[in-house]
Amino acid sequence: MTPEVEWPPLVDKFGRVHRDMRISLTDRCSLRCTYCMPAEGVPWLAGSSMLSADEMVRAATVAVQLGITKIRLTGGEPLLHPDVVTIVSKLTKLTGPSGPIEVSLTTNGLRLPALAAPLKDAGLSRVNISIDTLDRERYQAITRRDRLTDVIAGMAAADAAGLHPVKLNAVAMRGINDHEVVNLVTFALDHGYHMRFIEQMPLDPGHTWDRSQMVTQEEILASLREVYELTPEPGRGAMPAENFLINGGPAKVGIIASVTAPFCGSCDRLRLTADGQLRACLFSETETDIRDLLRADADDAALAEAFRTCIAGKKAGHGIGEPTFVQPSRPMSAIGG
Ligand code: SAM
Ligand code: SF4
Repeated sequence: MTPEVEWPPLVDKFGRVHRDMRISLTDRCSLRCTYCMPAEGVPWLAGSSMLSADEMVRAATVAVQLGITKIRLTGGEPLLHPDVVTIVSKLTKLTGPSGPIEVSLTTNGLRLPALAAPLKDAGLSRVNISIDTLDRERYQAITRRDRLTDVIAGMAAADAAGLHPVKLNAVAMRGINDHEVVNLVTFALDHGYHMRFIEQMPLDPGHTWDRSQMVTQEEILASLREVYELTPEPGRGAMPAENFLINGGPAKVGIIASVTAPFCGSCDRLRLTADGQLRACLFSETETDIRDLLRADADDAALAEAFRTCIAGKKAGHGIGEPTFVQPSRPMSAIGG
C-alpha cells in the first residue's frame, strides 16, 4: 500500500541514505564453495521460519516506499527457490517515490539455462554469476561439484536472454585461483562479460580466514597490469566494486576490496534474510525481526519502523582488523552475499 504521506528515506546516524536491499531467497545451495560452506552444508533454516514469497514481497513493498530503488536477490542459491520467477515479476512492478525499481540477482549460474529467459520476461535487469576458475578440476575442488560446464552455459543463457551486463564474480584465493586472474579477464573480454574480483572476507564456515593469506586488491591489480593498462573509472558512487577501464575502455574489470579498501563510508545497503531478519551490514552482530510483524498482520507503518530500527543501529564500518571484530555467527549462505 502506498502511504498517503511520503515517508522519509532510510538515513542512518552517519547520514548514509539506504537505497539498496539484498533479499536472500533461501540459505540452501547446489554448490559447497569452500569459502562459504562446509562439505556437509550447514544446519539449514527451518522451513517454518522462512518467509513465504508473499511475505518477502510485502517487506520489499514497504522498503521501496522508504526509498529503496535497487533490490538484489541472493542466497544461498536464489534460483533454487521454486517461486523465483513470480517473486521477480512482483518486485519489478513495485514503484517508489522516485519511480520504478531495478531488480537483479546474484547466482552460481547453474539454473540459468532454464531460467534466464523467464527471468528476463519477468523484468529482471541483470545477473552476477560466480565463477572462481575456468579449470574443471579446480572448479570441482572449490565448489565440491563438477558443474563448470553448467555455469558456462548459464552465462551464455543470461547473455542470450539480454540480462546485460553479465557480471562475473570471483573470490581470489592464494595458491588456488590467484594465477587465473588474467585468464578470467580474458575470458570475460572474449564473451563481452564484466569480470570482478572479490577479496575473501572472514565469512568462512570454519572461521579460519587469515588476513595475511588473503589476496589483496593490490596483488590482483599487479597481476592484471602485467598484461593490461588499467585506469580507474570515475563515478563509483555507492558501488562496492571499484572499476578499472581496460586499455582505455569501454571494457572494464572491477575489484571489490572489502578488506583492504573498505567502502563502508558510502554504504547504502541493507539485507533481508530468508527467515525474515533485517541486517544493516554483512557483519552485523544484531538483527531486526520482521517475520513476526509480517505474520501478525502488522501495518506498513510498523514494518517501516522495523526498517528504521535496523538502520539506526548500523555501525560506521565493518571493523575487520579491529581488536573488537567478531565474525558473524550466521554463515554467509544464510545472510545473503
Ligand atoms: N549462490 C550465489 C552465488 O554464489 O553467487 C549467491 C550467494 S553467494 C553467498 C554471493 C557471493 O558471495 C558470491 O559471489 C560468492 O563468491 C561470495 N562469497 C561467498 N563467501 C565469501 C567470502 N567468504 N568472501 C568473499 N565473498 C564471498
Ligand atoms: Fe552456494 Fe554461492 Fe555459497 Fe557457493 S558462494 S556455496 S554457490 S551460496
